[in-house]
Amino acid sequence: MTEFFNQVSRRKFMVTAGVSASAVLLKGCLGNPPETGNTGRKSSIEPVANIKPEQKPETTKAKLGYIPIVESAPLIIAQEKGFFAKYGMTEVELSKQASWGSARDNLEIGSQGGGIDGGQWQMPMPHLITEGLITKGNKPIPMYVLAQLVTHGNGIAIANKHLGKGISLKLDTAKPLLSQLKSANTPFTAAFTFPHVNQDLWLRYWLSASGIDPDTDVKLLTVPAAQTVANMKTGTMDAFSTGDPWPFRLVNDKIGFMAALTAEIWKNHPEEYFAMRGDWVDQNPKATKALLKGIMEAQQWLDKFENRQEAAEILAVKKYFGLSSPEVLANPYQGKYDMGDGRKIDDKSMAAYYWKDEKGSVSYPYQSHDLWFITENVRWGFLPKDYITNGAAKAKELIKKVNREDIWQEAAKELGIAATDIPSSKSRGVETFFDGIKFDPEKPEEYLKSLKIKKAGI
Ligand code: CA
Repeated sequence: MTEFFNQVSRRKFMVTAGVSASAVLLKGCLGNPPETGNTGRKSSIEPVANIKPEQKPETTKAKLGYIPIVESAPLIIAQEKGFFAKYGMTEVELSKQASWGSARDNLEIGSQGGGIDGGQWQMPMPHLITEGLITKGNKPIPMYVLAQLVTHGNGIAIANKHLGKGISLKLDTAKPLLSQLKSANTPFTAAFTFPHVNQDLWLRYWLSASGIDPDTDVKLLTVPAAQTVANMKTGTMDAFSTGDPWPFRLVNDKIGFMAALTAEIWKNHPEEYFAMRGDWVDQNPKATKALLKGIMEAQQWLDKFENRQEAAEILAVKKYFGLSSPEVLANPYQGKYDMGDGRKIDDKSMAAYYWKDEKGSVSYPYQSHDLWFITENVRWGFLPKDYITNGAAKAKELIKKVNREDIWQEAAKELGIAATDIPSSKSRGVETFFDGIKFDPEKPEEYLKSLKIKKAGI
């Protein structure tokens, strides 16, 4: 494993000719093209004249999908502040996705078919799409993970009817309530916006850390964020896991409270990622690096706290997040969370970070984090255990294909990022969760063995 994470990987781009024939054939047959009304305007900023000839992108166009939560900010800021255009990507189109399922469908058809070339993803969606596990007809569609977009900014919201019943980061005193709901045939119901990825995994980790089996003690299901809020109002939904600004809205509207921030479950955790179709990257290696440079510059801009009020104002507008006021984002952006149950967090280290956090690079896509997401998928029986047994050979093979940290490194160097901001290992090392459990990426099988609640027979 050490060898796996530390090997020097400088894969050259394989430039493949021609557009994807299947994407052309599928045009108009499949999918869920984004509404034109939701498509962001093209950047009007002209590129700087001094792009080195050898770095000039093959195309000025890319169509990137996003979901209106804080994870998408680097894409929106790169567009609005002209950072994409600065590196020659003058015709980037941002396309708001109605749901994660739509994003997946649009990625499948590609921009030639009216869909998208890539964008914002929960993990490990790019790996599952590459394996053909969540695509139509189980068709494998290679994707490349190119950067992490953000850490923190997510949490677990609970319906207000459960205030004062012990539902918090730890659930020991809430256990009788959960068993009572289960025996009354009205199990505690918690929602996420797409199965087997971040929000599902945060809920599962949080519940099982307190000895609650997410598969038998409660009911978990996929529901779009807006619908979940409606269900919480009517009392049919007990909890859901999502990103800012939804938690603030719930608390502000007195619909719910926050049991936990993901920053409390796992400080400086991996959250969502920038990933593209592999064929797009293979055909447009310089444009890929130009997109990455724009995103990296946006991430650095976003991490300056003095820019965050402006960031909130840019994101709040109708065509992006559609918030009643930028203040909905401005407080969480400073690490200020009214949890709605009397708890107030005012700690900048709990805010969303885009470029760097206490542990180092946020933007760099550590392969050890891909391995955690895959290991959790094995834990809950979503992936067969042979991904992790035998030294995790199968998981490593998949990660090597999908995680293109080598491209991130090349873009960072071309951008002149300080060597101290470019990680020297593909592993961030041992990770520690709030319940004291440790994930050693050198030993994922031992991590699974150490967990009491799991589905995998490991
Ligand atoms: Ca998220």
